[in-house]
Amino acid sequence: MGTRWRIVVAVDSDEETALEGAIRRAFDRVATLDLVLSDYVNSSELSRLSAIPIGQPQSISTDLLANLSAAREMAEISEGAFDPTIGPLVRLWRRARRTGLMPLPERLEAARAASGWRHFTIDSNAGTVTLLVPGMHFDLGGIAKGRAADEALAILRNEGFPSALVDGGGDIAIGEAPPGESGWRVVLEPLPRDHPEADAALELHDCGLATSGDAFRFVEIEGRRFSHIVDPRSGLGLEESRGVTVVARDAGRADALATALSVLDLEAGFDCLRRFEGAEARIVRLQDGSLRVDRSPGFPAILKTSEGAQVP
Ligand code: AMP
Ligand code: MG
Repeated sequence: MGTRWRIVVAVDSDEETALEGAIRRAFDRVATLDLVLSDYVNSSELSRLSAIPIGQPQSISTDLLANLSAAREMAEISEGAFDPTIGPLVRLWRRARRTGLMPLPERLEAARAASGWRHFTIDSNAGTVTLLVPGMHFDLGGIAKGRAADEALAILRNEGFPSALVDGGGDIAIGEAPPGESGWRVVLEPLPRDHPEADAALELHDCGLATSGDAFRFVEIEGRRFSHIVDPRSGLGLEESRGVTVVARDAGRADALATALSVLDLEAGFDCLRRFEGAEARIVRLQDGSLRVDRSPGFPAILKTSEGAQVP
């Protein structure tokens, strides 16, 4: 999934042999899901869906079915802000990042026509997916890491290591607090490093955490700055500098919600969030050089970061 994975487990020293096996199986599960879901790998089952005939149900693996179903549900609830069919547009913007040139209008139009979460149907009982328009490319980059982190954490829990944390490049599944602690302390960096005042730390357990934003991946063209997250309505990379952090019941939901809330305007985003019990968000925006922070009422208490900065 194009990212570094990290597993941290709080454990007694006499459990080390069992732990090694459990961690290996957790990483193996992530690697298996990567082979199915990656849009970076042309041979992944997800990428191969682009070549199936239009209008004909295609049998898919249970892993792909589960992820596509979750992504579709998230698209529906976010009214299309989260769009797993955004692939053609994402590819166009990846190319723009390489060339430094704006995508041509006709290419943008074609990619927009090929994207749209209503352009595919799933039959869960039959285990099939059907594509409805040509040129489609799925992209689960906004949800797959969180879901894979949840699965890896579940393996650790089942094997007797409930106090663990699985980090898939910032999409984090968090288990029970380490013994004697009230939670795992996680530092957030929602915006580029020249705004350390946005950094914050949280103490969390038994939840998922995700941060989306343009801190690291964006392209500057003709004085405009476009994020790697695409607004499905316009087909353009997002232009507002925004860092979205979501805490939710699990990392899959947190991951998808953080992406959706990057796209939606603030009010619509917080409305969407309320449809998920236990989901909370913090949105940091940069407007004319100054920082604005908005939080949902139940967002966990912000702790001092390692630098000792107190943030809003
Ligand atoms: P995240 O870092 O979780 O916010 O995911 C960003 C990734 O999700 C991008 O790199 C794309 O692969 C994909 N993506 C971009 N825009 C969207 C969107 N509107 N809905 C769903 N996924 C998207
Ligand atoms: Mg995401």
